[in-house]
Amino acid sequence: MKEKITIYQKAVAGRKGYNLPEPKKSDKEILAVIPEKFRRSVDAALPEISENEVVRHFVGLSVKNHHIDKGFYPLGSCTMKYNPKINDVAASLPGFLYQHPLAPCHTAAGCLQIIWETMQYLGEISGLPGVSLQPVAGAHGEFTGLLIMRAYHHSRGQKRDKIIIPDSAHGTNPASVSALGWTAVQVKSNEKGVIAPDTVAAVMTDDVAGIMMTNPNTLGLFESNVAEIVEVVHNRGGLIYLDGANLNANLGIFRPGDVGFDIMHFNLHKTFSTPHGGGGPGAGGVAVTGELEKFLPLPVLEKKDDGTLFFNYDRPQSIGRVHAFYGNFLNIVRAYAYLKALGGKGLRRVSENAVINANYLKTLVQEYYELPYKAHCMHEFVVSGNRQKKRGVKTLDISKRLLDFGVHPPTNYFPLIVPEALMIEPTETESREILDAFAAFMKQIDTESKENPEIVTSAPHNTPVRRLDEIKAARELDVCYRE
Ligand SMILES: *Cc1c(COP(=O)(O)O)cnc(C)c1O
Repeated sequence: MKEKITIYQKAVAGRKGYNLPEPKKSDKEILAVIPEKFRRSVDAALPEISENEVVRHFVGLSVKNHHIDKGFYPLGSCTMKYNPKINDVAASLPGFLYQHPLAPCHTAAGCLQIIWETMQYLGEISGLPGVSLQPVAGAHGEFTGLLIMRAYHHSRGQKRDKIIIPDSAHGTNPASVSALGWTAVQVKSNEKGVIAPDTVAAVMTDDVAGIMMTNPNTLGLFESNVAEIVEVVHNRGGLIYLDGANLNANLGIFRPGDVGFDIMHFNLHKTFSTPHGGGGPGAGGVAVTGELEKFLPLPVLEKKDDGTLFFNYDRPQSIGRVHAFYGNFLNIVRAYAYLKALGGKGLRRVSENAVINANYLKTLVQEYYELPYKAHCMHEFVVSGNRQKKRGVKTLDISKRLLDFGVHPPTNYFPLIVPEALMIEPTETESREILDAFAAFMKQIDTESKENPEIVTSAPHNTPVRRLDEIKAARELDVCYRE
């Protein structure tokens, strides 16, 4: 008896997509070595489908979804830049792909060299020499950084358990703080969208462990008072953490270590061109000052006098492990390929072009959408759909309508301090034609909001699925395919 076999109803009994050689042994000989209890009584439920159909099935699925290889993806704070395919070629080299995580160091010298050089580059980019690539997400890097902060204060006999966080911060910041059992103290951005030193000074007490800043912040603005804020916090014994998920405006221009940041994390899966989205494997390494290096997670990759690399587990003040093995190694390979291909000058051009693209697009879009913070932006900017809302078209509708034009919507309703926010990050890899086209879509949607709002409020019209019940999807999460 055969079990029912289906792959989205494409299977046909008896069809197959593989060719196996005839076994060298007879059925009887094979059966003789398989104990009775391990033998199948029912045929395996393998999909009965040709290779051709399988390929079409997956290609069909891949184009139903939006992705960076298909179209523009200006999702603010996510840095959806084009990921050069050479990075994937590098990560697919058999020596990397099939490396066993338990391989002894002397058999994995090439892999260690990649990790080591990536650490050196990131140390140089950040101005913070102590790097660990073990954390596997931005939020994981934050948590690791906070553990290091806690270890530092404990080593000085201090129990501090509060962290200052601006109201424009990414939600992972307060979440990481509470994961540690600490308390977040929120400070308000001023009318220019940045944090004033006085605001920080007012809450900087002796039980505050430090401040978590994002620079450029999530409004896409450079925190122009950062040097004074660093001084305020350091003077009261606190440390300065940089949420460096979005370094796309900083490369080769602004080194956080140079202005006094003590700890930061990187999102290799944003700035350093590792593909991401859909919760795929990330890489959220951390960097710290020389003084904090002793607290980095175990093991630490170090170099012996003779130049060989090894994992040092003998670090008594370390916070311990934060992840199995040494992070998502293949993502590190992708970032390495990207860093190597660009070099120092190329990285600086990345940031220059990211900032130019964002300012160019801002100038076009602000014709039709309210721009609450007027300053020059860095790699992204935030507009508000307030005007359109008065005509009955919400930011959610604008986002859905953009899908009809083959564009992924910007991040919406974030940061929370801007009502009806649309957070737009074009990245450096988009051409002027694409930015112009996006601005034209935004203009058209604005016109529609006046003349034909229904077409916006009922969008999307030409996507594989129409408007989804996102609340039900979140409340009754079910990620399994079932017939
Ligand atoms: C993306 C992002 C994070 C979180 O990174 P994950 O890898 O998603 O955990 C944190 N802060 C900022 C500013 C971000 O943009």
